[in-house]
Amino acid sequence: MSRGAFFESVSHYFDRAARLSSIKPGMLDQVKSCNSVYRMRFPVKQDDGSILVVEAFRAEHSHHRLPTKGGIRFSKHVHINETIALAALMTYKCAIVGVPFGGAKGGVCIDPRTASEGFRERVTRRYTAELIRKNFIGPDIDVPAPDYGTGEREMGWIADTYKNLKMNEGNPYACVTGKPVSMQGIPGRKQATGLGVFQGIRCCLDRAEDMKPLGLSTGTQGKRVIVQGLGNVGYHAAFYLQTQGGALITGIAERDGGIFNPDGLDVDEVYRHQQATGSILNFPGAENVADSRALLERECDILVPAALENQITAENAPRIRAKIIAEAANGPVDFQAEAILLERGVLMIPDLYLNAGGVTVSYFEWLKNKAGVSFDRMVSRHEELVKREMIDELESLTGKTMDAERRKRLIKGPREEELVVAALEETMIRSYDQVHDFWKQRGLPDLRTAAFLHAIERVAESYTHHGIFP
Ligand code: GLU
Repeated sequence: MSRGAFFESVSHYFDRAARLSSIKPGMLDQVKSCNSVYRMRFPVKQDDGSILVVEAFRAEHSHHRLPTKGGIRFSKHVHINETIALAALMTYKCAIVGVPFGGAKGGVCIDPRTASEGFRERVTRRYTAELIRKNFIGPDIDVPAPDYGTGEREMGWIADTYKNLKMNEGNPYACVTGKPVSMQGIPGRKQATGLGVFQGIRCCLDRAEDMKPLGLSTGTQGKRVIVQGLGNVGYHAAFYLQTQGGALITGIAERDGGIFNPDGLDVDEVYRHQQATGSILNFPGAENVADSRALLERECDILVPAALENQITAENAPRIRAKIIAEAANGPVDFQAEAILLERGVLMIPDLYLNAGGVTVSYFEWLKNKAGVSFDRMVSRHEELVKREMIDELESLTGKTMDAERRKRLIKGPREEELVVAALEETMIRSYDQVHDFWKQRGLPDLRTAAFLHAIERVAESYTHHGIFP
């Protein structure tokens, strides 16, 4: 797969949707263009004392809303065009779920699997210092988050570096999201992308009129699912599909091979097995599939690619037998594969909607950091008092007394995580309804075109209202 293929796919999807809009060409150019890219090379000491020159990027795709927002990827395959394409997807993603940010993305060209903890920390802190130097990070400028190869630990180092170099700034921890909860992160952020994927799939499967042509009943209950990638996103998507959605996770594909069991795999047990043995292979009761890409071609109802871009191309698309492809990763289906799959009637839930749960909860974390107060602190006690009064009133009207345990449970005010999960669910449902209505009402060919067009119109509208084009 050429390195430009992903960039080309995003560009193709944009152009296809743009052709259906009535927005003027100059404005479309502005919506499509990446506003700024910072390319850096900096030296970092390796564990043996030698110096490695690390190449890294930060792309801010759209400044129509500030701050810009998007994850930082650690990967050997990081490339400037890939970073720009991912930043563009962030712009459209934020527009779809109504998160008031522009899109951005960072990439650091190191191998996260072989890098020691010390080396990762030195790279992360130096990268942060570079971003500060060029004004490419800040609570109101550009706010990174985790992505492939990074997590809470890296976000913690970024927050700490920023705080120490920007002592005088109010709310410095709002410079990055996906931080550990102990560093003003928000409970629920870690599982947010995967949970949002599950909620989005559920929204899609609830529509009888869309399931009928696929020969599927509504709902996730009993649906056969194959997941590619058991990282943070894949694990949580599979976990919620199984535990809350009643789906059967029949296959899991990882880098070193896949496992398959037509009766369903227990996601948590597979995860524990992977932690204990270093691989998902040889999981009790499951068939080992040596070629993990071949696993994607097995028959199933829903295929959830949750790893990297360009996993389904013109090469393997004709052999994919899933009825629905739920894009948990960014850009897993390239545009040539998409044409083949659409032709065969496969329903694709596009990445720019489906994996937007992560940035949605990042937005909540950022709001919390800016406000300097947690969400439950402001509402929990108030809710308790209101509920207590209602139950007292109910008891006096009915003359009955509620069981003490039940009363305690009902009266308890919400915890921050419950508020986050409920707000995420509301966002995923509302956004799906909007994109779906857009698809049907405008007579658009597919969900992805609808999502892109919807996002393009929102961003263009925002540019107009901000007076950038006087
Ligand atoms: N890296 C994630 C994404 O691709 C999260 C971005 C964020 O939370 O800012 O959506």
